[in-house]
Amino acid sequence: MSTSLLSLNDICMEYPGFKAVSNLTIDIKAGEFISLMGPSGCGKSTTLRMIAGLDSPTSGSMLLEGTSQLDVPIEDRGMPMVWQNFALFPFLNVQKNVEFPLRMKGVASDIRAKKASEWIERLGLSEFAERSIAQLSGGQRQRVALARALVTEPRVLLLDEPLSALDAHLRIKMQTELTRLHKELGITFIYVTHSQSEAFAMADRVVIMNKGEIQQVGTPKEVYRAPENAFVAEFIGMNNLLPGTLVESNGDTVDVVTDLGLFKAKPAMGLKNGDSAHMVIAADCIRLDNQGEQKVRGRISGEEFVGSVITLLVELENGQEFKVQKQQHEVEALNLKYGADLT
Ligand code: ATP
Repeated sequence: MSTSLLSLNDICMEYPGFKAVSNLTIDIKAGEFISLMGPSGCGKSTTLRMIAGLDSPTSGSMLLEGTSQLDVPIEDRGMPMVWQNFALFPFLNVQKNVEFPLRMKGVASDIRAKKASEWIERLGLSEFAERSIAQLSGGQRQRVALARALVTEPRVLLLDEPLSALDAHLRIKMQTELTRLHKELGITFIYVTHSQSEAFAMADRVVIMNKGEIQQVGTPKEVYRAPENAFVAEFIGMNNLLPGTLVESNGDTVDVVTDLGLFKAKPAMGLKNGDSAHMVIAADCIRLDNQGEQKVRGRISGEEFVGSVITLLVELENGQEFKVQKQQHEVEALNLKYGADLT
């Protein structure tokens, strides 16, 4: 998994008066599962469309194993796309839908029938081969779309929010299937989603984008535990940001003065004494107590209950509201209720 397969260098996509993607540079390895994530309009789909060949970048280069792809037409790029709405042909049955890309390539009918049947079987669709698309469930349609994309044996599969039309239960099931398929096939998956849980569950590395620019690239663990900037910290969710000023570096830690006191933190690259910065405090790394000496005082101002985990909102002395994530049994053991003072 160490060989670089696809390199995007300084890719830009400009519409009149608007830059949808700016200077996007990333190296994608052979066999990697990459997920592009970010809020609506950040340029995820535009990036995927440029990789597929559906849109041409205004500038930049794109190399597949060192060969430029920008002048290669879509059908020769070998990077098919699976869409959110599946984009299947309603007038063709399952078998013919899956055969379609091979027909476009001029593959002889007996060979394409055999190959399509193999993929139909592999994706557990054999009993539906003669059915029309209208007679299939959402999950079955999704599998047909996958079979149709994979029948050409691509080296890169592009997926644009492929699970968002499915209900929550099916989405989880398909996540497991996609992960299994990716492992079995060993091909590169580039997967666009705005669902953090999907990206974190499946991807080897995630690319966090905002306003057309990459904010961070890393494994799910890296972006979760070491967000590189305030945008990533907030986008990734259960983090609190506390503004402060760096006053001293002590090797592995720095002292940060905030309006809640002095704290030690892990330093970020490029920061020096006197710089303003945000401390990122993960919601599940905060200790709560309603007895004894606390470093920071607060009061519970709200709670969100999600299964066994509870997110408490704690209003601090400086007026900021922090999210604190705890297991339900911990909250009960400490008798932490709405309005409780954490003194
Ligand atoms: P979503 O999650 O909502 O699908 P996205 O991250 O995939 O969003 P893109 O579809 O890549 O976002 O769009 C990026 C930006 O480019 C958006 O602001 C969009 O309005 C703009 N855009 C896309 N296509 C065009 C176009 N043909 N002309 C002008 N602007 C466009």
